[in-house]
Order: sequence, then C-alpha cells, then structure tokens
Amino acid sequence: MFEKLKKALSSLKAAIAERELGDKELEDLLYRFSLELLEGDVAQEVVDELSLIVKERLKGERVKRGEDASKVVEEALKDEIRRIVSIPKPDLLKEIERKRREGEPYSILFLGVNGTGKTTTLAKLAYMLKRKGYSVLLTCSDTYRAGAIEQLAEHAKRLSLKMISQRYGADPAAVARDAITYAKKHDVDVVLIDTAGRMQTSRNLMDEMKKIVRVVRPDLKIFVGDALTGNDAIYQARAFLEQAGFDCVILTKVDADVRGGSALSIAFTTKRPIIFVGTGQGYEDLEPFDANRYIEQLFGS
Ligand code: GDP
Repeated sequence: MFEKLKKALSSLKAAIAERELGDKELEDLLYRFSLELLEGDVAQEVVDELSLIVKERLKGERVKRGEDASKVVEEALKDEIRRIVSIPKPDLLKEIERKRREGEPYSILFLGVNGTGKTTTLAKLAYMLKRKGYSVLLTCSDTYRAGAIEQLAEHAKRLSLKMISQRYGADPAAVARDAITYAKKHDVDVVLIDTAGRMQTSRNLMDEMKKIVRVVRPDLKIFVGDALTGNDAIYQARAFLEQAGFDCVILTKVDADVRGGSALSIAFTTKRPIIFVGTGQGYEDLEPFDANRYIEQLFGS
C-alpha cells in the first residue's frame, strides 16, 4: 500500500541524512522529490507546498545535512500532511441519533462517477449501520445505467434490506423523494441514495444531481472517489463539488493503491474530510479514515 509516496519520503530522508547539501544539490534533490511525489498521485499544489517546506527547513547552514536535518524535515512534512488531511469529520452516528429523536430519517446521498465503487460503498455503509442497530433503506436513484437497479437490489437481498426503485428512465429526484416519504411513514432511521455516475463532465448528470439535492435536501452528501484514478479523482471531485456540493469523501480501493497520494490531494483540493476508506470488496472492508494511521503508513518502516 502507498509504496510510491512512501519511497519518495524515505529517499528524501536518506539523502538529507547522508550527504552534504550545497545549493545545487538541494535543488536537484527537491526536483527528484517533486517528481516522485507527482508519481505518487500528489497534486501539484501539494507538491509545491511540501517542497517549499523542505527547502525552508534546510535553509540554515546548520541543518543542511545529517540525522538531525533529516528528522527536522520529516517532522515538518508529517505536520504539514497531518494539517492537510485533518479536516473535522461529521459525527455520523450522533447525527443519525439526533434525527431519530426528532422522528425523522437521516438521508445520505452518494455522488461519484461509475466504476469508482459507489454502489459497493453504499452497501458497505448499509451493512455497518445495520450492524449498529439502525433500520436502513436503500434507494436506487440511478435510473439511467442498465443494470444499476439490479445491482443495488442484489445488495438489498444479501443484506436483507428494503430497497426503493422505479423503472429505468424515471425521474431520479422523484425516486429519492418517494424513499424519504416511505422512510418517514415506516420509521426508517437511515436512507441511503445511490445516484447515476456517467461522465463527470456531463451537464445532464450535474443538473440531475442538483435536482435531487434540491428536492430531497439530504442530511449528508458523500463523494465517492477511486484512489486508483489519481488526477481523475481530483477532477471528478472538483466538478461534483462545484456543481452539486458535498460534505465529505469516501476514498475507495486504497487496498490496491501503490501510489498513496490520493487522500492528500483530494483533501487539499476539496477541503472536505475523508470520512471512510474502502479497503476491499467485502461488506466489512470500510474503515474510518484516520490521519495518524495514514501518516504512519507513509513514514513507518
Ligand atoms: P459504481 O459503478 O461506482 O457503483 O462501482 P461498483 O460499486 O460497481 O464497484 C466497481 C468495482 O470496484 C467492483 O468490482 C467493486 O467490488 C470494486 N470495489 C469497490 N470498492 C472497492 C475497494 O475498496 N477495494 C477494492 N479492491 N475494490 C473495490
């Protein structure tokens, strides 16, 4: 996991610890570091920021080489990475409880491009909430992609949950509204709404998302991004943020991510917290994102 970014950080540390760094060597070192960060899916703006931090820490002659310099730089990078990814997260269970006390269902809208793992992630969250004792209703507001309804229905069957859907071509906002009405009538605690995810540049899709948001006013909007897609995930996140808006991010497929910079890049770009990460294909493979753990994975031996 995260081998590329980990290697970029450890090579930098080693180089600082081992060599005398004149101005020219420092420039070369930073250039190589930047390239390695980019290869590790770190967004350009973050690369610039991290490089600047290293440069500033090594500016004084006294800290230009040796173990101490290496430690100084490592601590500075850790602090900065922690700062970028430590965005306050919503307390999901507390919010669900609050709505439950008000006699209202808590609704979560899932946004993202096809193939990122949106439907699987929704099912994982349904599984988690069901195990915590909440009643959960699945809703298929993707009335566009062939097979979308059957895919969610399969999860509903496996998890023994009710699902609300209509025919293909139906108005996705109307499906979501029906689900909320059903949930209110039947005292459902949480409504999870799956949406279509054709090309993020599609104007129709964004209009569709905006309409669902307007009609349903979800309590939480989660953007699902695929860690393996690098820069694409950032473009997608930006487009959904500008058009439909979202509150937090779930980053999927981190179990297969050899680069590691997606969390950093998405958090930096969107300023939205990563609430969970997907760590496999099973229902249990959803973990709360933890900034300290992420840093440990990047800097650990
Ligand atoms: P959607 O089109 O965005 O709804 O994507 P799907 O939910 O159909 O997922 C696409 C593929 O990604 C499926 O094969 C999932 O099993 C897989 N997938 C989803 N999340 C993860 C994850 O966290 N790790 C891994 N390894 N695979 C995942």
